[in-house]
Amino acid sequence: MTGGVVSFDLDGTLWEFQPMMDGAIMAAIEALEERVPELAGRLTLADLHEHRRMVGHEMEGTLEELRRESLHRALRSVGRDDRELAGWMADRLLAARADRVGVHGDVAPAVEALLRQGHLVGAITNGNFPFHRLELAQRFHFVVHAEEAGAEKPAPEPFALAVQLSGGHPDRWVHVGDDIEIDVAGAQAYGMRGVWLNRFGLAPHPDVRPDAEIAGLDELPGTVERLLR
Ligand SMILES: [Mg+2]
Repeated sequence: MTGGVVSFDLDGTLWEFQPMMDGAIMAAIEALEERVPELAGRLTLADLHEHRRMVGHEMEGTLEELRRESLHRALRSVGRDDRELAGWMADRLLAARADRVGVHGDVAPAVEALLRQGHLVGAITNGNFPFHRLELAQRFHFVVHAEEAGAEKPAPEPFALAVQLSGGHPDRWVHVGDDIEIDVAGAQAYGMRGVWLNRFGLAPHPDVRPDAEIAGLDELPGTVERLLR
């Protein structure tokens, strides 16, 4: 087999996380204010971030459970103790992520080039972004959400599930991500090549040595050719 597998991290790699999440939360607030006009102006972006942060400290659960709980608490804080409404808002928020996301312009050309080179393309994420809602997802052979694998990167489980779903092999595999410890070190520990996407010129890590460092995904197809030659 000449082709290999190239897996992408999602948040911070295909798009920036914070603007996407802020946009989705704002969309959820707008939806709430339309459905319950008397709550207009009562909950802000900062409120919802704060409730989510607190819930993350106080309880365990899936990302979706934590989000629902935090929205329930936020609604309760403005006198509306309504779990159904919180769940509805969580659904709006999740869907809005795909509507509000700003996918980097270098993603689609890189994916198409990798496919032309004969590689399988997939994604391995610690988050719960609804990737299947993006048209881009049709070009991806697999998407692993760490929660389904039972542990988050850099643990081996998400990488192992990706190998299983793809039928590929770690020694013919390049994983690319923005987090050098989670993505690069995690992939390398599983026997894959780890490429560090360093869009913002961060200083190198003292202990982790990526197989390659790139400043944009336009550099990825050439890098993969070199690494899997
Ligand atoms: Mg990331």
